[in-house]
Amino acid sequence: MTKHGAVVVPEDAVVAVAAGRHFSFPPPRTAGAGDLCKKLAAQQIDLGAAVMGSWLDSMKASSPRHRLMAPAVDAEHDEWMEKHPSALGRFEAVAAAAKGKRIVVFLDYDGTLSPIVEDPDRAVMTDEMRDAVRGVAARFPTAIVSGRCLDKVFSFVRLEELYYAGSHGMDIQGPTAASTHHGPTTTPKVGEKQNPTWNGRVNVSFHAAHVSLSGQPGRRCMSLTGGCCCNGDVQGEEESVLCQPAREFLPMIGEAYAALAAKVEAIPGAKVENNKFCLSVHFRCVDERRWGAVAEQVRAVLRDYPRLRLTQGRKVLEIRPTIKWDKGEALRFLLSALGFSSGDGANDGDDAFPIYIGDDRTDEDAFRVLRARGQGAGILVSRFPKDTCASFSLRDPSEVKDFLRKLVTCAAA
Ligand SMILES: [Mg+2]
Repeated sequence: MTKHGAVVVPEDAVVAVAAGRHFSFPPPRTAGAGDLCKKLAAQQIDLGAAVMGSWLDSMKASSPRHRLMAPAVDAEHDEWMEKHPSALGRFEAVAAAAKGKRIVVFLDYDGTLSPIVEDPDRAVMTDEMRDAVRGVAARFPTAIVSGRCLDKVFSFVRLEELYYAGSHGMDIQGPTAASTHHGPTTTPKVGEKQNPTWNGRVNVSFHAAHVSLSGQPGRRCMSLTGGCCCNGDVQGEEESVLCQPAREFLPMIGEAYAALAAKVEAIPGAKVENNKFCLSVHFRCVDERRWGAVAEQVRAVLRDYPRLRLTQGRKVLEIRPTIKWDKGEALRFLLSALGFSSGDGANDGDDAFPIYIGDDRTDEDAFRVLRARGQGAGILVSRFPKDTCASFSLRDPSEVKDFLRKLVTCAAA
C-alpha cells in the first residue's frame, strides 16, 4: 500500500508489472517523471516573434500526418510501451490495483471516444462506443472531459446519465437525467459482492444530490480552491450546473471569437470554434504553407486580450482564460463533488480509483493530478511514443471501447 493508501497492489499485480523493465504501477507520488509532468503542464505557447519557428515546429509535431511520415523506430516504440504498457494487455494489473476501490471513470472525447476527423463537426461516436460508455456509466460515476463546449460534446455523446466537463473543465454539469446519482457510498467496490439487480445507483434526483454537495439550496456551485470555482448563485441556469470558474470571461471570449473568425476567414480550411469558455482554431484542413498565417492572425487577436492565453492540442490552437483551471482541476473538482475527496488536498479519497483516458496534451493535466495523488490509472490514447504522465496506453478509440467493455465485464463478475 502506498503511504496514503491510495492503491493496494496485490501480488498478481506486482508480478504482472515486473514483466516490464521500466513500468511502475501504481506510479509513486514523487515519481521520477516529475520533471516531465511539470514540463507537460507548462503548455502555454509564447507567441513572440522570436519563437514563431519553434511554434510552427510544435504545430507540425502535433500532426498525425507528420507522425505517419516519420514512424517511430521499433526499438523506440518498444521502450515506450514498456514504460506505458497497453491497458488492455495489462488489464489484470489494473483490475488488481482497483480491487477494493471505487472506480470513477473520466473520458476525453475527440481522439478517445471518436476518431480525429477532418471536420470537427463530424467527430461522431459509434453506437457501439455509446453502448460501451453507457455500460460503464451504469456501474461507475462517469464523466466526459472535453475541450469542446458542453452542448456540442453532449450532442455527440447523448447520454444523460453522465457528468460533462466542457471547455477544458470550465463548464461542469451533472447528469440531466433526474433519476440517478452515484456517490462514494453507493458506487460498488471492485471485487465487492453485489446484488445482481443492483447496479450501484441510488435513486436521488440530481438536484437533491447537488444540494447535498453544496449544502446550500439554490447555490449550485462549489467553491473549492481559493475561489477558482465560482460560488455564486446561478439561478436561471440549468438545474445541474456544477461549476463555471471562468464565467466572468464570457463577454471577452465572445469578442475574441468574433475578431478571430473575421481574421482567419480568408485562410482556406481554417475554422474557429466557440467553445463558450474557450476558443479552438482548427488548422487540420489548412495547407501547411498557411500555418504561419494562422499563427500570425491568432497572435494579432491575442495582443488585444492579455487575459487570454494560448495552448495547443492535436492540430488545434486553443485560447482560454488565464485562470488556473484545466482538465486536472476538473478531475479534482468532480472527485470532490462526488464525495471522493475533500477538494483541499487534505483527503485525496483513498477509497477511489479514478481512471482517466485521453489522447491530448490537455489531458496531461489530469494524468499529472493522478500521478501526484498516487492514485488510479492514467491512460494515454496514442499509436506513437509521446512524452506523457500517463501510466498506460491504448492505441485508438477502438481499443478504448474494448477496455470499457472489459471494465464492465470485470465489474459484473
Ligand atoms: Mg482528445
